[in-house]
Amino acid sequence: MKRKTTIPQKNKVRSQLQKEIASVCPFCDSGDVGHFEIHHIDENPSNHVCENLLLLCPTCHSKITKGDIPQQQVIDKKINLKNRGSKIQFISISIDKDKCGWVPIEDSKNSFKINAYKSFFPVFNFSFINQWERTVLLTNVKVKAKRLPIGLAGAARYDMPRLNILRPSITYKIKMPLDGETTIENLNEELEVPAGRAFKFQIELFDKFMERFSPPHNKYALFFEFGFNNDFFLKAPVILLNSSEYYEKLKLYGLS
Ligand SMILES: [Zn+2]
Repeated sequence: MKRKTTIPQKNKVRSQLQKEIASVCPFCDSGDVGHFEIHHIDENPSNHVCENLLLLCPTCHSKITKGDIPQQQVIDKKINLKNRGSKIQFISISIDKDKCGWVPIEDSKNSFKINAYKSFFPVFNFSFINQWERTVLLTNVKVKAKRLPIGLAGAARYDMPRLNILRPSITYKIKMPLDGETTIENLNEELEVPAGRAFKFQIELFDKFMERFSPPHNKYALFFEFGFNNDFFLKAPVILLNSSEYYEKLKLYGLS
């Protein structure tokens, strides 16, 4: 049973959240709202971390409660609000199933599990749109890894064969950070993104030593940020490997 608790410093939090949405409901764009409501994204009414809170109009709030607005859309909305002002907006993350052994976990976006005896190094496709009226350059990638507790229903164990890993040449290879660490990589080949265009690029996370990474035996939360013009970073939604229970873990271990 999840108990509702009071948000500490509620007025301060509320004004911060109101600033985040620029006093306009992030779903229906209505500014004519008598009283904005606070939505708990993970549906746990006592998880008051700012990442978990979103201000919206009562109508859209009830649409979320009824499931008319899917939770993933809410999560993506929150990410894009945090990225607002940069004019580069996140669209989607997918996995390249031909190039690696990972597949999506059903009914859970941005969560992937190992499924085939192919490369264990995940190859992600990231899509963004450049809403600037000028070209921007993707110049660096920052990624942080958090190992999640495996728990009773942990990831399945595999006997691993030796692997021949084929790496596509157009994919950015980024070193898999160790648990709790962050990798920041300046790209040798910067990606040029014309004004007003959607764009997509691949990231392969790799490590020289498979044992350190050992994805089939571990669950990970991955936090990507993409740097443009060596100037500003954009956050992507959290990616989960071998887990689909992000918010639960986030709450328990304070990963955000
Ligand atoms: Zn609304």
